[in-house]
Amino acid sequence: MEYQMNQNFKLLRMKAETISEDNPNKNLSMDTNHNILKLNHELEIYQIELQMQNNELLLAKEAAQEIAQKYADLYNFAPTGYLTFSQNGRIVELNLCAAQMLGKNRSQLIHSQFGFFISDTSKLTFNSFLEKIFTTKSKTSCEVILENSCINGFPVYLQLTGIINKNNKQCEISASDISSYKQAKFKLEENQNILQSTFESPREVNIVSLDKNYCYLTFNNFHFVSMQKKYGIDVKIGTNMLGYIKDEEERLKTKHFFDMALAGENHSTEEQYSILDNDGWITKFSPIYNKKHEIYGATAYALNISQIKQIEKELIIAKNRAEESDRLKTAFLQNISHEIRTPMNMIMGFSNLMADDFDDKANLQEHVQIVNESCNDLLNMINEILDIAKIESGQLAINETEFNINTIFNELEQYFRHIQDMQEKQKVSFQIAVQLPNNIQVIYTDKVKLKQVLINLIKNAFKFTEKGIIEAGCKFDKQNNLVFYVKDDGIGIPEDKQKVIFERFVQVNKKSTNRGTGLGLSIVQGLVDLLKGEIFLKSKPGKGSTFSFTIPYKKGN
Ligand code: ADP
Repeated sequence: MEYQMNQNFKLLRMKAETISEDNPNKNLSMDTNHNILKLNHELEIYQIELQMQNNELLLAKEAAQEIAQKYADLYNFAPTGYLTFSQNGRIVELNLCAAQMLGKNRSQLIHSQFGFFISDTSKLTFNSFLEKIFTTKSKTSCEVILENSCINGFPVYLQLTGIINKNNKQCEISASDISSYKQAKFKLEENQNILQSTFESPREVNIVSLDKNYCYLTFNNFHFVSMQKKYGIDVKIGTNMLGYIKDEEERLKTKHFFDMALAGENHSTEEQYSILDNDGWITKFSPIYNKKHEIYGATAYALNISQIKQIEKELIIAKNRAEESDRLKTAFLQNISHEIRTPMNMIMGFSNLMADDFDDKANLQEHVQIVNESCNDLLNMINEILDIAKIESGQLAINETEFNINTIFNELEQYFRHIQDMQEKQKVSFQIAVQLPNNIQVIYTDKVKLKQVLINLIKNAFKFTEKGIIEAGCKFDKQNNLVFYVKDDGIGIPEDKQKVIFERFVQVNKKSTNRGTGLGLSIVQGLVDLLKGEIFLKSKPGKGSTFSFTIPYKKGN
């Protein structure tokens, strides 16, 4: 700079010399007195020099004034707010834009505290911002919200950037209105939140987007958790999804599905996906397009349909059951009408004959017995139907009393000896085996129902046994439950029928000689349930059957 100035003075000096030499009085002066002339010349040069310097200064002053005006205009009319703050936050100076932001005239704002114009929450921010400027002496920024001013219901945000002045006592601040940016940012965040929760809200749905290299563009939390459970890894955006799938077949299959989508195909699969814990999944694959409608990735939505499949299975089972029950009911109705017709025909036929038998006592007795038996058969059938109806509608109540087990078995023995005679089953030996210690033969339970169960089981044993032993008895099992059993050497029951015979109306090998409705064992099952016991069956076709059931042992006094 100094060198430049010297150069300018040298230039001026040279110009002044040239102007002095052109002066017409010059030669005359030199002739008279050399020294005076020289001095005079110097003065003249110096005067010209001064004159020129003066001109230059005037020009420089004009230029400086012009620049100052320009800067003042720039300062005043700048679209950014400029403020000068004192250390305690007072406004020392500000431009028009800043005044406009604060909504007052410049003169009203000078010397006021900037803190008055901002919201309470921003005051703390502003104070620490000022403090930072003066302590660190480096450029600092902060965001404040103006008090009492909104645009379309949205508060006005200012971004302040400040730096300390040269005198270290004030700071220069630029203030920009960032409300539109803030508003856009909030809106964007809000949209992102909506998108995110839309993305995350479907339960049990895996959502994944991959780029063309099968690397994650995005995934939902459910996918993250599934991969964590399956492979013990935390998947990350940008990593290759196929790389995590350990099973090669699974990996190739998944790659194939994504490749189809990357080739532009929307498709879905219904798979047992082992990458998603072996459940049933319905997965939709689709390509993802950019703005130019070019494919840049593929997305997959996998919906767990195991529950739906389970329900489907259960519905099929229920439907089959309903059909089976319907079939059984039809069979039952046919059966029952046959069963009713047989004793009814007997009653009608033999009661007609009875009128003719009036004088023939032997015949009359035989026919009365037949009518009587047929009435019994009818009554039994009606009772069974009523029993099952009561059990199924939960109307049968338990009536517990105290009694000796031997009394039940004695009654049963008497009753079945009589039946055995009537059925002429002499090749069958009926035995009773009560294997309990003498001191615990009195028990506390529903005697009528216990007896009914035993009667049904022994009746069946007689019905399906032509020769051999039928043994009815009771003992204790290891869990101290009372076990009652009826064992026979009869025809036995095939293994595949052993469960179903406890269902209503089911009969195996129905023969015309075997009267029955197929309800006896369902009644037995229902009664044992009521007595809080369990029923078991061991049987081999041709070898015989053992029906046994437990009831909890309640000792009587
Ligand atoms: P039913 O009135 O036909 O006897 P149940 O419900 O008592 O009806 O028995 C169902 C079927 O179970 C019988 O039709 C028979 O095929 C079989 N069953 C029951 N008990 C025996 C048994 N002791 N030996 C062989 N088969 C039996």
